[in-house]
Amino acid sequence: MKKGLLIILSGPSGVGKGTVRKYIMKRNVLPLAFSISMTTRPPREKEKEGVEYYFVSEEEFQKNIEEDNFLEWAEFVGNRYGTPKNYVEQLRNEGKNVILEIEINGAEQVLDKVKDDRVVSFFLAPPSLRQLEIRIRKRKSEPEENIQKRLAKGVSEMEKAKNYDFVILNDHVKRAGDEIISIIKKIIED
Ligand code: 5GP
Repeated sequence: MKKGLLIILSGPSGVGKGTVRKYIMKRNVLPLAFSISMTTRPPREKEKEGVEYYFVSEEEFQKNIEEDNFLEWAEFVGNRYGTPKNYVEQLRNEGKNVILEIEINGAEQVLDKVKDDRVVSFFLAPPSLRQLEIRIRKRKSEPEENIQKRLAKGVSEMEKAKNYDFVILNDHVKRAGDEIISIIKKIIED
């Protein structure tokens, strides 16, 4: 059995990675698995343990770093986020294509670390910075200071787009999602 693809979906916070990823998985035209990350961020209102994230304490996160359990991890606006290494490997060995929905720093770590040729990276770009701000504000889940930090980070992160295999414009979820699906399909079928 062919090892599953490792699919990196990155881009600035608020660009719509989660929405596009959910659309892609809902279309159900590809064998895909989502890598559920660990985070020290408290859950938002509708988030459930083990669905969007595993919500853990600082101590538990630190323990996982020390035990080398992460494929990558990063700090983002005061919280830490990490991808469980063994879980991703196991899924890929089962032939599943695994989506990592992660921020830029973590994506760079994965690109540095994973040297097999079954990796593809997508940078999701907003139509404009104004649109990014609107999206971040819509969540209404964070203090103004964090919103400003997320925005400033987003602006500088746009420069990283050139390091990715594909830059996808998130003008419409369906269009962006379908573009990603057709690229993945091509790679799988080759
Ligand atoms: P949020 O707090 O909005 O859920 O996530 C903040 C940022 O962290 C988003 O860009 C999200 O994609 C990213 N993120 C989520 N999980 C991980 C992870 O495991 N590793 C890294 N590096 N970033 C992650």
